[in-house]
Amino acid sequence: MSGVSASWQEKVSATVRLLEQAAGDYAPDLLFAASFGAEDVLLIDLIAKHTPQIRIITLDTGRLPQETYDVIDACRSRYAIDLTVLFPDAAAVESMVKTHGVNLFRQSVELRKSCCEVRKIEPLKRALQGQRAWITGLRREQAESRQMMAAIEDDTHFGLKKFNPLIEWTEAEVWAYIRANDVPYNALHDAHYPSIGCAPCTRAITVGEDPRAGRWWWEREDGVAECGLHASPLKRS
Ligand code: SF4
Repeated sequence: MSGVSASWQEKVSATVRLLEQAAGDYAPDLLFAASFGAEDVLLIDLIAKHTPQIRIITLDTGRLPQETYDVIDACRSRYAIDLTVLFPDAAAVESMVKTHGVNLFRQSVELRKSCCEVRKIEPLKRALQGQRAWITGLRREQAESRQMMAAIEDDTHFGLKKFNPLIEWTEAEVWAYIRANDVPYNALHDAHYPSIGCAPCTRAITVGEDPRAGRWWWEREDGVAECGLHASPLKRS
């Protein structure tokens, strides 16, 4: 397969083994937090086929692009998965918007982080309460801030075991899997959106740009911004 290393099939097998290990050791106190990007639909396909006991959550911030809702529905139709869509606390959103306006994230980095805290991090914290482990679709090559991540880590911020089964996958390998298995994916990927979050905080990138350059692009002079979901201190296991 063009652009795909010879070890691709072994990576698929290793990823399935890691999902089985996570499910065997931690289910039912285990969640996959999906944002329905390319990596996440790949993992949903593998979970549906091999470890359907793993529960899947996603965060509806209230500001997602329609294309993300479409792929959530496509996955619900295609797979027999245990999927929960989580929402932010309505009173907290109302209070934040009343004080700072609906587009507060454009006013300052602090207000952008507040918006992410209310719309994403607080609902995720709620979902992870009582869990012992969680799974992400992070890949090392996505960002400088992900270079030190490992397949299994101790997430000291949330106090959980954290599994990153795709950490060693390349972008070409992810897309090879999606094409080979006809996995539903977010249509924005075909419009040069490698990383997809909330609609007002995501743009397409051009040739040569960092894959995460389209996220919160107005606030960085260099480096790549994170929303805080994966910026916690970690220890390799
Ligand atoms: S990505 Fe943007 S709209 Fe979404 S929660 Fe963060 S600041 Fe708010």
